[in-house]
Amino acid sequence: MEEKTLVLIKPDGLVKSLTGNIITTLSETKLKIVGAKVVKVKRDLAEKHYGELKNNLIKKFGEEKGKQIFESTLDYIQGKFHTDRVLALVYKGEGAVDKVRKLAGETNPEKASPISIRGKYGRIHSETKVFENVIHCSDSADNAKKEIDLWFKKDEVVE
Ligand code: ADP
Repeated sequence: MEEKTLVLIKPDGLVKSLTGNIITTLSETKLKIVGAKVVKVKRDLAEKHYGELKNNLIKKFGEEKGKQIFESTLDYIQGKFHTDRVLALVYKGEGAVDKVRKLAGETNPEKASPISIRGKYGRIHSETKVFENVIHCSDSADNAKKEIDLWFKKDEVVE
């Protein structure tokens, strides 16, 4: 099915000059880029983007540690550890969500396949323990729609 997916090259990806490598890797999918922009992420956008993450982390790690990882994840996407911007991209095509997630690899860069984007370029920050995994990609077509509406205005995505 034709669908869209949101890709963010996170601040560590930009600081490490990985944009070219990541876009080249994603071009293997033969998906079309239909939106692209540089965004300076404010806390409000970060919180909306990671709406469900806080509860998931609290469930997994308990109140204190869960909240701490969540706060560090918000700091990370806002660029507090690297540079204060991300590159937001919209890819469109057959099975876009799965194709991009497969090349991105698992969330934890140490568990991700070593030939995936996250496996190649990601790391776990030694103090905050945040997975600095270089790239975000939507995990379902429904979430992709919500995320694209959050990050892009209607006329910024070419139909
Ligand atoms: P994904 O980015 O693969 O869709 P999630 O939505 O679960 O994964 O998490 C969002 C981001 O929060 C991750 O990409 C990572 O930067 C951070 N994160 C999630 N879970 C953890 C964790 N257990 N430890 C450290 N950082 C995490």
